[in-house]
Amino acid sequence: VATEFDLIARYFTRALPGAVTGVEAGVVLGVGDDAALVNPRAGHELAITTDLLVAGTHFFPDTSPADLGWKTLAVNVSDIAAMGASPRWATLGLALPAHIAADEAWLSAFADGFFACADAYDIELVGGDTTRGPLAFSVTLIGEAPAGRAVRRSGAQVGDAIWVSGTPGRAALGLAHLQGRIALTEPDLTQCLAALHRPQPRLALGLALREFATAAIDISDGLLADLGHILARSGCGAALTVPDIAVLPALTFAQSLADASLVQACSLSGGDDYELLFTTPPDCRPTCEGLPLTRLGTITAQAGLIVRDAHGARITPTRFGYDHFG
Ligand code: ADP
Ligand code: MG
Repeated sequence: VATEFDLIARYFTRALPGAVTGVEAGVVLGVGDDAALVNPRAGHELAITTDLLVAGTHFFPDTSPADLGWKTLAVNVSDIAAMGASPRWATLGLALPAHIAADEAWLSAFADGFFACADAYDIELVGGDTTRGPLAFSVTLIGEAPAGRAVRRSGAQVGDAIWVSGTPGRAALGLAHLQGRIALTEPDLTQCLAALHRPQPRLALGLALREFATAAIDISDGLLADLGHILARSGCGAALTVPDIAVLPALTFAQSLADASLVQACSLSGGDDYELLFTTPPDCRPTCEGLPLTRLGTITAQAGLIVRDAHGARITPTRFGYDHFG
């Protein structure tokens, strides 16, 4: 049986990839001491975020370990992207039950998924903590943005346009399929399960936000709930029209009425998509190569969130999003 230190050395310590040097990666000292030492770029502020993923609450315990490794880092990349910052250094906290700590195939698949995401977004793993316990992962991710340029939730102004990237709702539909609440068929099934298990944080868009966004958030709890956070921080309201919302244009299955309302609920209130929701000045036409951006509505002086359908009738969503303590 591997000790804690064997396990860290074997699966979570590695040389910098390819031609990258410690100087370029900003790593003065990585895994193996009491703390890591990193070297931020001059003139930058650090952006620091933590997400905790717990088996049974955030994922099914039998989820593929490679997907878990990817997602545990990707959800943090999404938070850094939503600030208009670049991710740089991560620490990884692992609580592992005995049978998983002894499962080499599981550990190496988890590490492969984690490092695949680290490589995709140029992140160095510089430390962590490993303990026996119920399966849970926590990543702290540190990013950088030029001083004063990070994008906050609090900057939305009356009259600003509200935008969303991609097609929110796919991850929630993938989950609904796994729970037997809808029967997706190909190609929707593959797309929705990929959105659930391998979220692709919108880093290129996040960096571009510094040029045009007045406020931004990533959609982790549901589009309406996360828009609510921008409104609360910015002290304003919003008017949305549902047909303007990216309602899963790629879905090809024949929608029953019940399916159609589930699709709408997933788009508006489904969590786990990691798309970006942001506001811009009224005349701005933001673009991001290869990623559809859809205008949802407008920021209003009147507090509250008004959602209308194609015919102008008010929609009252039954649920705005996910709240662990709600
Ligand atoms: P300490 O007891 O001083 O906190 P540990 O013995 O917990 O240190 O960890 C030894 C080294 O291994 C530290 O550099 C720590 O950051 C690193 N480490 C521990 N767990 C992980 C992990 N899951 N991934 C990456 N590095 C880790
Ligand atoms: Mg120590």
